[in-house]
Amino acid sequence: MSKEKKIYLNEREMPTQWYNIVADMVNKPLPPLHPGTKQPIGPEALAPLFPMSLIQQEVSTDRWIDIPEEVQDLYKIWRPTPVHRAYNLEKALDTPARIYFKNESVSPAGSHKPNTAIPQAYYNYKEGIKSMTTETGAGQWGSALSFACQHFGINLKVFMVKVSYEQKPYRKMLMNTWGAEVIPSPSMLTEAGRKILSQNPNSPGSLGIAISEAVEVAAKDEKTKYSLGSVLNHVLLHQTIIGLEAMKQMEMTGDYPDIVIACFGGGSNFAGITFPFLRFNITQGKKTRMIACEPASCPKLTRGQFQYDFGDTAGLTPLIPMYTLGHNFVPDSIHAGGLRYHGAGAIVSQLLKDKLIEAQSVKQLETFEAGVLFARTEGILPAPETSHAIAVAIREAKIAKQEGKAKTILFNFSGHGYIDLSAYDQYFAGLLQDHEITQEEIMKSLAQLEKVI
Ligand SMILES: *Cc1c(COP(=O)(O)O)cnc(C)c1O
Repeated sequence: MSKEKKIYLNEREMPTQWYNIVADMVNKPLPPLHPGTKQPIGPEALAPLFPMSLIQQEVSTDRWIDIPEEVQDLYKIWRPTPVHRAYNLEKALDTPARIYFKNESVSPAGSHKPNTAIPQAYYNYKEGIKSMTTETGAGQWGSALSFACQHFGINLKVFMVKVSYEQKPYRKMLMNTWGAEVIPSPSMLTEAGRKILSQNPNSPGSLGIAISEAVEVAAKDEKTKYSLGSVLNHVLLHQTIIGLEAMKQMEMTGDYPDIVIACFGGGSNFAGITFPFLRFNITQGKKTRMIACEPASCPKLTRGQFQYDFGDTAGLTPLIPMYTLGHNFVPDSIHAGGLRYHGAGAIVSQLLKDKLIEAQSVKQLETFEAGVLFARTEGILPAPETSHAIAVAIREAKIAKQEGKAKTILFNFSGHGYIDLSAYDQYFAGLLQDHEITQEEIMKSLAQLEKVI
């Protein structure tokens, strides 16, 4: 098997359960708090926004959760996804490391996002919901949920971060094709949007602002539910199908990863590929390193603080224990829109605090250099988000070369960049820059937070 370029599973080998790492965590994630009382909230507090079945998954401590058959059937449009051995990239780097990647770009929306969009739309549909709202950064999440919602007959409103709406018109067209309405955020449709625009009419928007708008619309209408594409426990849970498949595929190669790498926005694709391997670190003493890769311009894991913060900008969500740069933090308009989020999920934050996972930050130009090298060697053009993972895989392959060690590296290829080509155009024209925020900016943003822990 070890000479294979692609390692496939057949449909019958697709996992039929998701893995919930909370069952195996020694230090469980801290509970979400009510912003007013600062007391832990119960599941019922989330009921205006989410269907009960997803709330149950959000607080579940069961290790395995069944994937409904209708969801499995839709997954089978593109799953199981292949694992590739990146022989050409290895050769270009002249590294003794064996580099594998799990290719999540083969989904209808071009990323890992449909892995959770489909079950989320399904559980809403099962509870009779006919309209939903969400936000999207680069447009990946919005398109995944549009695809899923139209399948289950649900109307979807997508608040799209304005800078991406302007840079990436093709994502909007894709969402429209799948029947969704797309609104640039901040917008005049919500109180949260109007407030931001009155302070800064040229606001480029941020994921935090777009979340506020989508949450506000759902909270004000009993019949409308909200959906989040990352950060929350149930989203991370759905993504574990990536790592569960990869585990079987790595078994077929005879290699076991020394390092598993993924880019990090809110943590869902990172959780998806790493948690099944992390389980063996926790329960079987394996020593695989798990590396989360974030942009240097939005470095919540490497330079943020662990504390309670809101998931959105307006402060409408519960307080979540997380590594954060502060919910008012608006990162520079880099091209990896999906990684421009101020915080991180509660589970991944706890794991980082407990040093069970690691984080590295990467500047924009290094990510594009890595993305172009990958496209030239392996053929697929990565999403700018994905290039963060590739950049760190390359860093680690170079270290393996210096050390003369044949390490096995597995990274998640979270999505392709064929709808983000304008970003590459700007890179080739020399128009992209490195952004790194100063310690002062971080401290200023964090100083605005109330201390709860
Ligand atoms: C959304 C997105 C990400 C970041 O989100 P996570 O929840 O951290 O996984 C990464 N890569 C691609 C291609 C995306 O669309």
